[in-house]
Amino acid sequence: MASRMKYRPMLDSFVPYEWEPSTEEIAVKIGIKPGRILRLDTNTSPVPPVKLLSQVGGRLHRVPINYYPDTSYSALREAISEYTGLTADSIIPTNGADEAIDIICKIFLETGYEAIASTPTYSFFRIATELQGGRFVAVPRREDFSDNVESILSSINSQTRLIFLCSPNNPTGNITSIEWIEKICRESDVAVVVDEAYYEFAGKTAASLVEKYGNLMIVRTLSKAFGLAGARIGYIIASSETVKLLNKARPPNSLGVINIELGVLALKRRKYMHELVKLINSERQRLFEKLSKLDGIRVYPSEANFLLIKFIDSPADKVYEHLLKEGIVVRNLVASPHTTGCLRVTIGTRRQNQRFLNALLGIIGEENNEDAHG
Ligand code: PMP
Repeated sequence: MASRMKYRPMLDSFVPYEWEPSTEEIAVKIGIKPGRILRLDTNTSPVPPVKLLSQVGGRLHRVPINYYPDTSYSALREAISEYTGLTADSIIPTNGADEAIDIICKIFLETGYEAIASTPTYSFFRIATELQGGRFVAVPRREDFSDNVESILSSINSQTRLIFLCSPNNPTGNITSIEWIEKICRESDVAVVVDEAYYEFAGKTAASLVEKYGNLMIVRTLSKAFGLAGARIGYIIASSETVKLLNKARPPNSLGVINIELGVLALKRRKYMHELVKLINSERQRLFEKLSKLDGIRVYPSEANFLLIKFIDSPADKVYEHLLKEGIVVRNLVASPHTTGCLRVTIGTRRQNQRFLNALLGIIGEENNEDAHG
């Protein structure tokens, strides 16, 4: 029998997050073993922090799993404080950066209010905004994907409550300069969020500005450079005043105690992170140079752990499908208006990148041959 329960009418036209399929699902779809699948679609680390896992593993029997976590997350806040050089009262640990975005939207948005974002950008900004009943105002980036700061500022009206920036930006890989962030914070009273999920790969941050600009909030994560996407650890950096405000919407126990242990240790022993960033940045450069030499594609400069590639001579959809058939999963962005013809590829290990590159060369060659033969 059809249910007669009532829910929010906005959900009928709401476009939810596009969940990535599991590796097992993909394996079944294309008929190859899960072990042969190469995930270059989630901007995560290609290698798990094995040492860290075994260190925490050795301590598991002592983890007080029968209790809730310390809901002030003091050990994790201290570790983040030591890592960032900012005081512990300017930090809120969250269940990944996504929960950070969600908490911020709960504090600043409701029906009738607006959030501005420099687009294309991370889809969850729109999702979290709309789920709060807010209106999402997309301000298109310039042709080179830099933020249109004038247009962002002129889009602010009496209903605007949030501005989302993302630096480096997903999916374009470019950063927002510190000068622009300061300009936006200075010239408006609106809350400004800078999502720095990929900060470690770029090494540029606006975090030290949070005391100067009370309307600035930085969102970060251990999902990318620390290789802990499965552990779900993110955090917000804001002035101590703003932290008090944000805490009003923070769920009490969203981080698990084992994950807190992992997070604290990863932040204290940063060797894995530094080595990963070094590897990814040099591989990104290598791949960028190789791709730049190819005819019929445009690759955008990136300061993150991924590259955005625009296919000019061959249909990106077909390239995506061909790659998938070979077990290589990239992010298909052709359906988004500002990334038509684009695929986003996560930088992996040298071997993984080479596998991607060889497959791509084969596909582009074939496509061009097909065209040549009509
Ligand atoms: N922000 C950006 C820009 C991202 O790309 C992502 C992950 N794709 C997130 C936030 C979410 O990160 P987390 O795993 O910490 O929730």
